[in-house]
Amino acid sequence: MKPSIYGYRLSEWQDYLASIGQPKFRAVQIYHWLFQNRADSLQAMSDLPMLMRQSLDASMQFTSLQEVTRQVSKDGTIKFLFRLPDQATIETVIMRHDYGNSVCVSTQVGCKMGCKFCASTLGGLVRNVTAGEMVEQVMMCQRLLDREGERVSSVVLMGSGEPLENYEEAMRFIDIITDQEGLKIGQRHITVSTVGLVPAIYRLADEMRGITLAVSLHAADDETRSKMMPVNRAYDILSLLEACKYYFDKTGRRITFEYALINGHNDKVEDARKLAALLRTIPCHVNLIPVNYVPERNLTRTPQDQIREFADELERQHINATVRREKGSDIAAACGQLRAQHGAE
Ligand code: SF4
Repeated sequence: MKPSIYGYRLSEWQDYLASIGQPKFRAVQIYHWLFQNRADSLQAMSDLPMLMRQSLDASMQFTSLQEVTRQVSKDGTIKFLFRLPDQATIETVIMRHDYGNSVCVSTQVGCKMGCKFCASTLGGLVRNVTAGEMVEQVMMCQRLLDREGERVSSVVLMGSGEPLENYEEAMRFIDIITDQEGLKIGQRHITVSTVGLVPAIYRLADEMRGITLAVSLHAADDETRSKMMPVNRAYDILSLLEACKYYFDKTGRRITFEYALINGHNDKVEDARKLAALLRTIPCHVNLIPVNYVPERNLTRTPQDQIREFADELERQHINATVRREKGSDIAAACGQLRAQHGAE
């Protein structure tokens, strides 16, 4: 399988070009062609020497993603199913907000984390998605938005997969899409979602990137969380919250905690109180997510008035919380509904 042309940092292009006797400025030319002019082939890069174009053409893949299906929700959310060169499939979602367009990127084909409310993990982990394939997901969305004169304004690594399990490629992806010669997406507009891989959170904190960390918490005690998320047996809530505090201290970025409300599991006012006690010392925001329907999981969502009570209790305890507005649930594009296999439903 040839590597994707989109999968290299600018500095990596510069080093490579130097190694084949080409000047470094060619790297910037390539970046401009790829990300600003949205070139669709090497042939279009008319100011690069012909021989160089031919040799890159022979060694790199220009388009690794093939669009299989595209669904449009009544709220404007768009979900793509893409086929990768090895026939694996991933989903990518564009969400429309008042403040811009956000793209939800898949970082693994499937997932091995086994969260009980999630469809992405049903078939286990197939493989990691490469940085180039992640960038291409964003580019496919950007090309569609170009037709409306709009741009991708933020990116969330919240599709299928655990991004911090595919750490190197996820960080390479972030470096590429935030490059000022490329798509120029601000670090502050990138959110990495994690189930709570504690060592990787420390590593990310030490890298002092300006990105937002979104932690899937989903329960306020270890017993409940371990039932919902097997990762809790390796990294319990207290060790996770210590890592979150460290992340805030290092980066100054407030943590987002994701909390899926599941009827009868984690949604009592008492749970809200326990949650507030846990989070009291961490500058954070809690996203309450009414759980989305996944047929195989047989989980139902908390009734609306109980969701309100839960949110109100957090507010009473001075914890900043919002109930997430649903995006794309009619096309199974909402949280926990993305899956790797077309036709697995
Ligand atoms: S919620 Fe995220 S980490 Fe958990 S199984 Fe789903 S994709 Fe994997």
